[in-house]
Amino acid sequence: DLDNHSQSHTNELYEHWDLIDGKKVTSKQVVEIINPDGFSVIGTVPALSTLEINEAYAAARRAQKNWEAVTLLKRIEILKKWRNLIAEHETELATIMMKEIAKGYKEALNEVRRTVEYIDYTFEEAKRLQPSAFTGEEFGISNKLGIFERVAKGVGLAISPFNYPLNLAISKIMPALVMGNTLVFKPATAGSLVGTKLGELALSAQLPAGIFNVVTGRGREIGDILVKNQEINFISFTGSVDVGINLLETAITKDVVLELGGKDPALVLDDLQLDKYAKQIVAGAYGYSGQRCTAIKRVLTTDPIADRLIPHLIKEIDKLAVGSPKENAAITPVIDQKAANYVLKLMDDAVADGAKVLVGGQHRANLIWPTLVDHVTPKMALAWEEPFGPVLPIIRLKNRDEMIAVANASKFGLQASVFSQEITPALIVAKELEVGTVNINGKSQRGPDSFPFLGVKDSGFGVQGIRETLLSVTRVKGLVINY
Ligand code: NAD
Repeated sequence: DLDNHSQSHTNELYEHWDLIDGKKVTSKQVVEIINPDGFSVIGTVPALSTLEINEAYAAARRAQKNWEAVTLLKRIEILKKWRNLIAEHETELATIMMKEIAKGYKEALNEVRRTVEYIDYTFEEAKRLQPSAFTGEEFGISNKLGIFERVAKGVGLAISPFNYPLNLAISKIMPALVMGNTLVFKPATAGSLVGTKLGELALSAQLPAGIFNVVTGRGREIGDILVKNQEINFISFTGSVDVGINLLETAITKDVVLELGGKDPALVLDDLQLDKYAKQIVAGAYGYSGQRCTAIKRVLTTDPIADRLIPHLIKEIDKLAVGSPKENAAITPVIDQKAANYVLKLMDDAVADGAKVLVGGQHRANLIWPTLVDHVTPKMALAWEEPFGPVLPIIRLKNRDEMIAVANASKFGLQASVFSQEITPALIVAKELEVGTVNINGKSQRGPDSFPFLGVKDSGFGVQGIRETLLSVTRVKGLVINY
């Protein structure tokens, strides 16, 4: 199936259009989409002008009141046609994803299926956001009945990153639309073919014009135009810390949810199940070549445990195939050469300062072999910065207190993993960690998607997760009946 599919697309250039007010929008100016696996141009998307972007917001505003006036069950019925088209196009979406961001085909297909499940869960959960009622008795007042329901906020802006171009887009889009908001959606440049494909499927599903608009262009060029439009009521952004903080400073609204970077630590407290710990740590560190916000990006442990853990880690790393996403290799080229160079520089600097590469270290262009670096110290940038690539530093510390201190000294606070066979020390350490979520005896990860998901410190602002996102795209509206 994959072979047939990818062959039929071998020389096809994807020339995708944007969607504004229910109409296809093309442009003379385009952004070229480059396959990270070999750097060939695989397609183009429009590079929109200020005028067109403003028109997307105007269309979203015009459509909003009518869309909100449609009942919830009817909105679900309308959106379900789109959901079904996404499910029916799973192989096409996965193929595009494989070419556009070098994600292994099977993993890309999993992302599509997970996303369809996300949509179904969102529809069900939206039905459960029932109003709450209060009888409001106080100081002799007893003749009031208060009813508080959740209503749409209005027009939203959704900006997604490259690494989960479908899941992290839909997890912003569907909750917003189902609750009666309208949207302008801007995918990452790498990810724009998936994003614009969503627009194409939305048009085929005959969504009401203007409720969902897709705009493309280079983020650093159109970012300000996007975030400063007066129509915006709320923003959901996932991406890097620098872009997120800049957005917070320049955006027209302060109603912003930010999911940013991470430097998730794995704290290994004992050596009782090293085989299991190593499987989780390696899956967490090297999945999608380390290009996950919740990738395990450092191991914190003591000298004796590190010595015993390392052979288990190496055994697991040796199982990772390095190569092409078409062959479902575990390790594929990172998103571009610039990202690769940053990862390699962090590694080289650490080695120059005395760190030791235990496995990996080599690269071919932007394909970096899975690398394990021992004796990384808190003096090195590799201990603190987020390398979006397949490299895992081991930081040897004296005891648990030092492990907690180094974990918390990070500017990031997304997730952490604690490995321990005894529950009490695991809980004591978990309580001390300044992160959104602590995973005991498992890798850090976003999901299941129904779990609340958040970062603290520079890792984010606001909470996502199916229920949490439905809450964040709505506000309370009260109705008080006096009798
Ligand atoms: P990025 O910050 O480069 O880009 C994210 C999005 O912002 C893209 O759509 C981009 O076009 C857009 N953008 C760029 N400049 C902009 C500007 N000035 N104004 C508005 N938008 C602008 O991030 P990326 O490289 O696509 O993704 C990798 C980063 O995302 C990593 O730091 C990773 O940790 C983070 N991430 C976080 C989560 C999370 O949930 N916490 C999930 C995935 C990725």
